[in-house]
Amino acid sequence: MGVFLCLSESQPHWSEMVTTHNLGFPRMGLRRELKFALEAYWRAESDSATLLDCARTLRQRHWTLQNGLDWVPVGDFSLYDHMLDMSFTLGHLPERAQGFEGDELERYFRLARGQGRSACCGSAIAAAEMTKWFDTNYHYLVPEFDAQTRFELDDRRLRQQWGEALAQGVRAKPVLIGPVTYLWLGKMRGGGDRLHLLPALLEVYAELLKRLHAWGATWVQIDEPILVQDLDPDWQHAFNLAYHQLKNTSVQILLTSYFGGLGENRYLAANLPVAGLHLDAVRGHEDVAALLNILPSTKVLSLGVIDGRNIWKTDLEATLNWLEPIAQRLQERLWIAPSCSLLHVPLDLATEPALDPSLRSWLSFARQKLHELELLARALRLGRQSVASELLAHQQGLNQRAQSPLVHRPEVQAALRASGALPIERRSPYTERERKQQAALQLPLWPTTTIGSFPQTGPIRQARQRFKSGLIDAATYEQAMRDEIALCVREQETLGLDVLVHGEAERNDMVEYFGEQLEGFAFTANGWVQSYGSRCVKPPILYGDVQRRQPMTVHWSRYAQSLTRKPMKGMLTGPVTVLNWSFVRDDQPRQTSCRQIALALRAEVLDLEQAGIAVIQIDEPALREGLPLKRAEQAAYLDWAVACFGLTANGVRDETQIHTHMCYAEFNDIIEHIARLDADVITIETARSALDLLEAFERYAYPNAIGPGVYDIHSPNQPEVGRMVALLSSAAQRLPLERLWVNPDCGLKTRQWSEVKPALQRMVQAAQQLRQTH
Ligand code: GLN
Ligand code: ZN
Repeated sequence: MGVFLCLSESQPHWSEMVTTHNLGFPRMGLRRELKFALEAYWRAESDSATLLDCARTLRQRHWTLQNGLDWVPVGDFSLYDHMLDMSFTLGHLPERAQGFEGDELERYFRLARGQGRSACCGSAIAAAEMTKWFDTNYHYLVPEFDAQTRFELDDRRLRQQWGEALAQGVRAKPVLIGPVTYLWLGKMRGGGDRLHLLPALLEVYAELLKRLHAWGATWVQIDEPILVQDLDPDWQHAFNLAYHQLKNTSVQILLTSYFGGLGENRYLAANLPVAGLHLDAVRGHEDVAALLNILPSTKVLSLGVIDGRNIWKTDLEATLNWLEPIAQRLQERLWIAPSCSLLHVPLDLATEPALDPSLRSWLSFARQKLHELELLARALRLGRQSVASELLAHQQGLNQRAQSPLVHRPEVQAALRASGALPIERRSPYTERERKQQAALQLPLWPTTTIGSFPQTGPIRQARQRFKSGLIDAATYEQAMRDEIALCVREQETLGLDVLVHGEAERNDMVEYFGEQLEGFAFTANGWVQSYGSRCVKPPILYGDVQRRQPMTVHWSRYAQSLTRKPMKGMLTGPVTVLNWSFVRDDQPRQTSCRQIALALRAEVLDLEQAGIAVIQIDEPALREGLPLKRAEQAAYLDWAVACFGLTANGVRDETQIHTHMCYAEFNDIIEHIARLDADVITIETARSALDLLEAFERYAYPNAIGPGVYDIHSPNQPEVGRMVALLSSAAQRLPLERLWVNPDCGLKTRQWSEVKPALQRMVQAAQQLRQTH
């Protein structure tokens, strides 16, 4: 591609043929138009034509934004989820989603959400299971396989989008999830090996590629991100099988891997019969040199040089220093792109005028990343001189970042150096602590508690909004929150819970609340990133050394404790969760950032203890999420994550009881690390797979106390006393009953008081029954 330009300068323009492309683009729109269109449609306030129109407009707008590229992705857009789209394209829907009345859209949302439009259209079904997309915070809908699974091509979605792109004059490159990744990410019901489905699946893919060719596609991007994970021989073989079968179609396949290097799969990936290979050159930087030597000389190498997982400006000079010799070597075989789809970053920095100008000058969102890509391409095609002034302007911000006092705080670095001397383990073993804590707290058997939050009611949110927009002053807001806390404490006393919480009324979000009070974090106004369906999150930006200005939660906890004689739990978000739910620094290792957060939170823990708070909970719901995709890297992550938790939590006296909470149920592979946290009590999600989970704890002989969540707070249904008693009785057969707690499986902030009160009443009843029988 590339325009040919006659250069007078002596700079050789050896790589004028470099090709630029993108893997995927954010879908929501600048003002989250898609979210609002979806939600209006679901509430039956608008019709399908309006929704589809919004989607079409967004696609069109987003293609225009990508128009400077040589190849623009088509088919990456989705109304809900791209894996679900692929399931529809492959004609692969679970039986329960078939045969319903209503149009295609109704069927689509019925599978996505368990229901179509509001309650009016047909009955509800179980929604497809949702789980995290690799190590991102995006969730996809899990394909369901069984021995009867059949596939049948349904090309309507792609045909539609292809047609739109063509009409718009877009240089379109269709994007598909690859067959091997599709199978890998799905779940087989009723046993059996899902690889047996591969031949049937490949027939549909082959047919689809043929059609794409017939429509005029030359390159097709096929995403196989599982190439960055550990694959056993069967799955490696599946790759060979798949791409040998697909090579006979006339399109050129660009096989894309992302979210890491290829590692052990390097040879496999390099030698598959495809026309090109895309590599995440940010996370897989070290792979590039090796790959250059083994990649057959006929193939295109696409290097993902712009970080699609973070929001920092690319150091274009460093990238060019590294890329120029590669471009020289590969010539027109070099393509460049973001490392992965830009789905995982916000759309446009232009919507953030309120950010500190220095910080702003270090950032790059999706649109800015495409501009960086284009600048790189021009520098490669025409020589750096041709972009000298733009490059200079771009790099200026970066140079400031490296020196900025906003980022580098000598006192934090000194504290970090000194922190090596701090204990990360408790002073005494659990049994001794347990004795002292029991003497102090005097809890009954089967102690009851909750996970922290109580309903975030309309009035609470309104008060916060009014405070933020200046309609009420700090004192009025403070009083409103105190009133909520008092109410929450009264309710818990009436219910007869044993360890109380203040209810978290004052918190908008469990990470944002702390980020806003710590130095080193910034918040965007519109930096939305899709989490699932119409849901978006606005991750904080961790840009500088982290420091606590002053105690963050102590006055709330002290006030709450003053209202009751029962123990009041202090409530903090743990360092690993704060890290994993933020965009973090790329100028130091993640673990260094995590340790800084841990130090700040440690001070908070000690202040809480000083203020007479005898039970402190440190939530780590995102601990598992940070687990690296490659097994070989997991132990190192878990080591520093456990150490950071220990640094936060374990400086307290024996008498202080540390709780932690995690809301997921996959513990098998990390249980030994959970045990190393050495929290006195861990409350966990069990509602959906209680026994499996407890088995993991039993097998490992988990040494401390556990509160297996006895009911699912996500469900509006009232829990049954009998069921809770049964669950806990069976837990008591596996684990010593003196170490069991009674609690819901997560915070209650999304529920109504009218649901919470009877549910907790029943939970307390269950505990009372257990005390009589055990
Ligand atoms: N303490 C938090 C709450 O109750 C925990 C939330 C979570 O685990 N995600 O809301
Ligand atoms: Zn939870």
